[in-house]
Amino acid sequence: MTIQHAADLLSSARRGLALTGAGVSAESGIPTFRGEGGLWTRYDPVKVASINYFMSDPAAYWKVSKERGGVALAAKPNPAHQALARLESEGHISAVATQNTDGLHQDSGSKRVIELHGSGRMVECLDCGHRESRAQVQKRLDDEMPPRCPACSGTFLKPTVILFGEPMPQVAVREAFDLAGQADVMLVVGSSLVVFPAAEVPLIAVRSGAAMIVINAEPTPVDRLAEVVIHGRAGEVLPEILRAMPISA
Ligand SMILES: [Zn+2]
Repeated sequence: MTIQHAADLLSSARRGLALTGAGVSAESGIPTFRGEGGLWTRYDPVKVASINYFMSDPAAYWKVSKERGGVALAAKPNPAHQALARLESEGHISAVATQNTDGLHQDSGSKRVIELHGSGRMVECLDCGHRESRAQVQKRLDDEMPPRCPACSGTFLKPTVILFGEPMPQVAVREAFDLAGQADVMLVVGSSLVVFPAAEVPLIAVRSGAAMIVINAEPTPVDRLAEVVIHGRAGEVLPEILRAMPISA
């Protein structure tokens, strides 16, 4: 059966790579951008999450970001995050590449996390480069809109996430592509694989000989290339796979 097949593949994996997307964060209560009730059904994404919009009106950007940031900062890792941390600590996967910016993989103990869309935990002043935590900035948003840089009083404080119109983080993308090229097992979790560069990662892995496992609520464009496809909730499926793995394989 599929759970056992996935467990067997992962227990023999020594340099697996996991790729996670919004589905994993959604199970921690962070609404997806594209899904039902998602932020982008209420706002035009290219508008509110683009670098041009941010530069033209940081206050308008932050008014939207304040709401989402509050939810993300309060979120806790779920059993899918914990299962991935354990797969790494037991030596089956070497890293988690993620499209998520919420930092929940790090919170659950994953050591090597490749953030393909940057991190929402940090905020950078575009005028002077001063960095502070998002949590710190979040606290000021009731009194300060847009938030001001404590170092230079500038008003262009940008979360270190990749906005529309910004280049992808080269170092992270290269690292994910390299690990995909070396992977023995490619584990895709909670990503619909519709955006670059995430969509490219599993293709590189499979071309290089990795066996692929896909766990996602809905079908993905790479399902037909996978050895195992499980449509379900990551926080239920991954722990089930771990339970089916032999102890200290
Ligand atoms: Zn500054």
